[in-house]
Amino acid sequence: MLGQQQPTVMEMDQISAATPFQLPAPIWPVAQMKADGNYFFQEVIEELRGARVVVRGRGEMLMLSSYSYLGLLRHPEVEHAARQAINDFSTGVHGVRLLAGTTSLHVELERAIADFKHTEAAVVFSSGYVTNLTAISALVGPDDYVICDKLNHASIVDGCKLSGAELLRFAHNDIADLAHRLAALPSTANKLVVADAVFSMDGDIFDLPTAVEVCRRYGAYLMIDEAHSLGILGQTGRGIEEHFGLDASSVDVKMGTLSKTIPSVGGYIAGSHRLIELLKHNGRGFVYSGALPPAQVAAAHAAFAILAREPWRAQQLREKTDYFRTALQQMGFNTLDSQTPIVPVICGANDHAWRMAKRCQDQGLFVQGIPSPVVPNGSARLRCIVTADHTLADLDEALRVIGAAGKAEGVI
Ligand code: PMP
Repeated sequence: MLGQQQPTVMEMDQISAATPFQLPAPIWPVAQMKADGNYFFQEVIEELRGARVVVRGRGEMLMLSSYSYLGLLRHPEVEHAARQAINDFSTGVHGVRLLAGTTSLHVELERAIADFKHTEAAVVFSSGYVTNLTAISALVGPDDYVICDKLNHASIVDGCKLSGAELLRFAHNDIADLAHRLAALPSTANKLVVADAVFSMDGDIFDLPTAVEVCRRYGAYLMIDEAHSLGILGQTGRGIEEHFGLDASSVDVKMGTLSKTIPSVGGYIAGSHRLIELLKHNGRGFVYSGALPPAQVAAAHAAFAILAREPWRAQQLREKTDYFRTALQQMGFNTLDSQTPIVPVICGANDHAWRMAKRCQDQGLFVQGIPSPVVPNGSARLRCIVTADHTLADLDEALRVIGAAGKAEGVI
């Protein structure tokens, strides 16, 4: 303490009188869930076996919660590309992209994404979450407006808050409400409209054709998050514009992730040269965060090559999804307006969803209960995801387990 002033008696009193830091509680009753045996978050996967996984303490289970929509996890070409990238560039980079972190692999992946999405250019970021935060906060600021669908993903909402722009929300997939809100804004203001292409908890599809028309009428810029539509929607899996037969220029800011259909990690924005140039210089998640590692970049690039070469994968997944969803509906389950591999099974209160999940998990089915506030109150659900890895026999097994759980819980 040599040379340091000791606190006076009065200062000591002030220190001891200060309220200690209050750690907030988790948003769910985690301790109670664990005590009741209803806690299935963060299960530890020890091995991948196609549509099945080995889970610590539970053994082999049928996976019904995976984002590997087209079954590209474990694809030999993807794994080979990742290994080659480690050979060539090692496991990390020299820091941020802007300074020394750009390799030829990054540039080639961005070219492949731009080609796949029919845009002039693309840029990748270190996660899908960071992509939404970075892009939205670079595009709008305190004098601008950002208008979101009510069910947009949390990363979009967080990006809007970070931007400082005024955040408005329109009723879910209600484009008349969007038009109404745009009409009330100053005609000279910058307006950015953001929506998910496929809503991640409901599995329904954004009404893009009407939204494009409304955005053009009011001079709004349109950003679409294709986390759950890349490789899935459209005849060749190119996404929501292809699904609706729209021109590739319909969406100004095309966002997607590299952590779902693409079995890697990261996110991207595809769009005009001007947009991408802006994001590479004003996007704080690009300028101030380390570049994606070479293995993940190369894996993503190999996966895009497979998507472009094998469009039948999207069609095959649609057939499996339709089979699964129709069977659930015939049993009497409410699957909302899902039209994609994300199939919600509505249970009601959080407790109901947790008990349904427990019954399924106890029968070897890896499916998650999704509680509020992630989804609106009273619509807690099992969130089932069909992937290309599932055989029809796998789906029949899942249907049998969910059907029995639904009857036991009074959901059907
Ligand atoms: N957007 C949507 C619609 C998502 O569902 C997710 C992830 N669940 C993200 C963005 C974030 O992507 P990532 O997991 O790659 O960070």
